[in-house]
Amino acid sequence: MKGACDPTIEPQSKFDFRLVRCRTDNYAVLMHDPESGATAVVDTPEFGPIDETLRQEGWKLTHILNTHHHHDHVDANEALKEKYGATVIGPEKNRGQIPGLDQGVKDGDKISFGGEVIDVIAVPGHTLGHVAYYLCNAKVVFTGDTLFSLGCGRMFEGDAEMMWHSLDMLRHLPEDTLMYCGHEYTLNNGEFALTVEPGNEALQKRVEEVRELLRQRKPTIPVSIGLEKRTNPFLRPESPEIREKVNMKGVENWRVFGALRALKDQF
Ligand code: ZN
Ligand code: FE
Repeated sequence: MKGACDPTIEPQSKFDFRLVRCRTDNYAVLMHDPESGATAVVDTPEFGPIDETLRQEGWKLTHILNTHHHHDHVDANEALKEKYGATVIGPEKNRGQIPGLDQGVKDGDKISFGGEVIDVIAVPGHTLGHVAYYLCNAKVVFTGDTLFSLGCGRMFEGDAEMMWHSLDMLRHLPEDTLMYCGHEYTLNNGEFALTVEPGNEALQKRVEEVRELLRQRKPTIPVSIGLEKRTNPFLRPESPEIREKVNMKGVENWRVFGALRALKDQF
């Protein structure tokens, strides 16, 4: 994952991306390589909108990439696989819970797609098997329910130390990497973020922009890792203002993260 990529390389536009709104607040992301015709969907919350977007674009689905086994991320696996014959790729740890799984993956695995490499990064915490998919040349990362814009997923299976380690890895990706996540939760996350770091001007500005995007019925993602590092409290346990807020000074980052996550659970 690290070192395989030239950081000076310009983000490649060789792939086309389509964000597909599903269910109430889920996103699926389509990634298409015009050269080879390869087309992947990251998570399959709902057959209809994904199939409709593929039909409109004239794309044939070749890969299904699941970030984790929750039903709002795998529900349409079998219907899409049946219609398109796509290969289903997802965390090996959850083999029994991912419908139609063909290729189980784990941390450090590499998947080839459209002449590029997709790096599999284990990001346990929301679930123990959760993975992120990272394309260093395309400068894009799919974070599922681990990292959201201005927030992070609930810890259903892991603990704070584990989840923090996962988020810490994601925040060390190059700052111009674009992050796609599994849900449109950005405004609610932003409202919480402002309660713990009200003095963060980058955060204030981002929340204003998010409100405007949503007024225009536009998605608030993708967003760069760099902007998330400046605005997302769950990536900012070093912030003096946040540490003051949770009354934790001189402790490890994961403990501050854990306190923030507990506050958000009550928000
Ligand atoms: Zn989930
Ligand atoms: Fe989800």
